Amino acid sequence: MDNCIFCKIINKEIPSTVVYEDDRVLAFKDIQPVAPVHVLIVPKKHIPSVKDIQPGEEGYLVDIHKAAVKIAQELGIAENGFRLINNCGKGGGQTVFHLHYHLIGGAELGAKLI
Ligand code: AMP
Ligand code: ZN
Repeated sequence: MDNCIFCKIINKEIPSTVVYEDDRVLAFKDIQPVAPVHVLIVPKKHIPSVKDIQPGEEGYLVDIHKAAVKIAQELGIAENGFRLINNCGKGGGQTVFHLHYHLIGGAELGAKLI
C-alpha cells in the first residue's frame, strides 16, 4: 500500500529495528517506546485495522499472538508479564492505519484502563 509507513518498513524501504520476522508477520521496535520493551507486531499484508479484517484473514491474529509470546520469551519479559494492545480507529487512539499490536513490558506497567 502506497503511503503506508508500516508497508514501507515491511518492504525495507525505510529502516526499523526488526526483532522477529516470518513469512506472515514482522515485529520491530517502536520509535517512541513507552516501556523498556515496546515492539510493534504487524501482518505483512496491508489491513488498515482490526475492524477491516476480511474472512480468511483472521489467521493473522493468531500469527500475531504467537509471535508476541515468542518475542516476549526471547526478550525475557514473558515470565514477569506483558501487555498486548491494539488501538482501533481514530477514537481508539490509532494513528498508523496498518493493523498492529503493541507488545509492552520490561517494567511494572501502571495506568490500566480496565
Ligand atoms: P498507534 O497509535 O496504536 O497507531 O501506534 C502507532 C505507533 O507507531 C506509535 O507508538 C509510534 O511511535 C509508532 N511508529 C510510528 N512510526 C514509526 C516508525 N517509523 N518506526 C517504528 N515505530 C513507529
Ligand atoms: Zn500498510
